[in-house]
Amino acid sequence: MSKETHEFQAETKQLLDLMIHSIYTNREIFLRELTSNASDAIDKIHFESLTNKDLLEGDDDYEIFLVPDEKSHTLSISDNGIGMTKEELIENIGTIAKSGTKAFLKKMMDAKESNAAVSGKELIGQFGVGFYSAFMVAEKITVVTRKAGQNQAYKWESTGDGSYTIEECDKKRRGTTITLTLLPEFYGDKAEENFTDTNKIESLVKKYSDYVRYPIKMKFVVEETPKDKDGKEIKDAEKIKRDEIRTLNSMQPLWAKNKSEIKPEEYNEFYKNLFHDWEDPMEVLHNKAEGTIEYTSLLFFPAHAPFNLYHTDYQPGLQLYSRHVFIMDNCKDLLPEYLRFVKGLVDSPDFSLNISRELLQQSRELKTIGRNLENSILKTLERMLKNDREKYEKFWAEYGKSLKIGVYGSMYSGNDTINKLKNLLLFATSDESKGLSSLKEYLERMPESQKKIYYATGKDRKAIDSLLQMELLRDKNIEVLYLLDNVDEFAIEALREYEGKQFHSISRGDLGLDDVESQQAKKENEDIAKKNENLIKDIKESLGERVADVKISNRLKSSAVCLVADEQGPSFSMEQAFAEANN
Ligand code: ADP
Ligand code: MG
Repeated sequence: MSKETHEFQAETKQLLDLMIHSIYTNREIFLRELTSNASDAIDKIHFESLTNKDLLEGDDDYEIFLVPDEKSHTLSISDNGIGMTKEELIENIGTIAKSGTKAFLKKMMDAKESNAAVSGKELIGQFGVGFYSAFMVAEKITVVTRKAGQNQAYKWESTGDGSYTIEECDKKRRGTTITLTLLPEFYGDKAEENFTDTNKIESLVKKYSDYVRYPIKMKFVVEETPKDKDGKEIKDAEKIKRDEIRTLNSMQPLWAKNKSEIKPEEYNEFYKNLFHDWEDPMEVLHNKAEGTIEYTSLLFFPAHAPFNLYHTDYQPGLQLYSRHVFIMDNCKDLLPEYLRFVKGLVDSPDFSLNISRELLQQSRELKTIGRNLENSILKTLERMLKNDREKYEKFWAEYGKSLKIGVYGSMYSGNDTINKLKNLLLFATSDESKGLSSLKEYLERMPESQKKIYYATGKDRKAIDSLLQMELLRDKNIEVLYLLDNVDEFAIEALREYEGKQFHSISRGDLGLDDVESQQAKKENEDIAKKNENLIKDIKESLGERVADVKISNRLKSSAVCLVADEQGPSFSMEQAFAEANN
């Protein structure tokens, strides 16, 4: 057979055009794509060999081999997988069949039309763009492949200009070798990203393909100082160069191991490596689900909340993997906003490498997995609160704010986050000896005659202690929640009630302490008010717009007057919070 020239299918041409002429930031993902193809090809031969052992031709030492070569400025990726026939080369590499790639193409065209180079950048990391992504870094791609069980090998070659050639060639070992002739920007010491640099390649493999099931190997040149016959290094002697083949990926992902076989230190090291933290995590949740949806999740609570947790530059979300291959970072669609501090990953064969963010969001699997994760996190927290109070209070100090914001947010999202979180909230109270209390604990201590849960806001204990209204409540021995964090009151506002008991701010309207004593006082007040009608009118007139009303009060013990918030209007501290937010 002589050399044949074939035209790419129209859509392939479009995709190639986009790959070559658009400017992307993370071009490095091509290596992930090519190694995952190699790994798929090995999966296939392994599967076939189960029923036809002869196909292996004695070579069952599965491996993926990377050869960066500075001199010829090439990078090649070899596998001893299933390989391709001539027809398969034409069918698989000249044609776009995958729906994922088609969807990608459409998005890219849309982005291009609206002149959105930026959105293009964002898009590419989210899709598995496959084989063609190699044209982002290569001026020529050569594929040499021999299908398992066949004698004839083929060479496919293209410069991405709309056509490719195919010719017969020789290849001893079964499988595929893909050689990229790199574009000038991607080799040499001056290159921004040098894909002929073994260190660079090693770091990319660790980043994207660490958990590929087969060894990804590369040859390193090691320099050694020669030794004398006693084994001592000879000073000033010329270094000896020696080749060393190393496996770059760890292959076995920690999360795929059996829980019982993993030591706490292993989780800690893994966490610190993957999420660049220097402290061990506060909590580790490792779950394997087998059933209608199969997945493994490994989640962590960092020991400390990052300083930017509530700022827009913080990236919440989990990593997604599909069969140990990294797909996406910071997937926000799995966990609710109030769990934005949770770090970790989910690995599921139900995720496809070629899925777009949009499709992913709609995917039922993702929703179900997300719900399960949320439940297991909530259960962990409930258990912690019950069994390890000290740890829970540490958790609360770091992430309590997140849960409170979650409660407040549910006022708008209308979901049942309130029910999920209300038992996890902790507050200080006027009884300092009790430390932090859950609402349940507060209720348990509350006398039966007390109908409401009282709360007060202030910047610290002292500020609330000295509130005039506290005097009366202290006299009556009523415990008051002390809301010291500026989001506390928002959470309480959203809750409205707990176990049928309304929340009531001590600085707002009537305290509703309607025992006999206060009934009497009320009547006395009315009498006094009647007698002093003119005085009240005068005060109202002179204060004018500055107050909503002037009333005779029975709340005061030792002061002449006191400012209170309107029954319906926002409380003082909320007014202050709003004022701050508007500044
Ligand atoms: P995908 O991997 O999602 O199918 P790609 O664009 O990455 O899409 O690859 C297209 C097809 O080319 C693969 O489905 C496979 O049939 C074939 N292919 C690519 N690389 C290899 C390889 N190393 N060995 C055998 N077949 C391959
Ligand atoms: Mg692929």
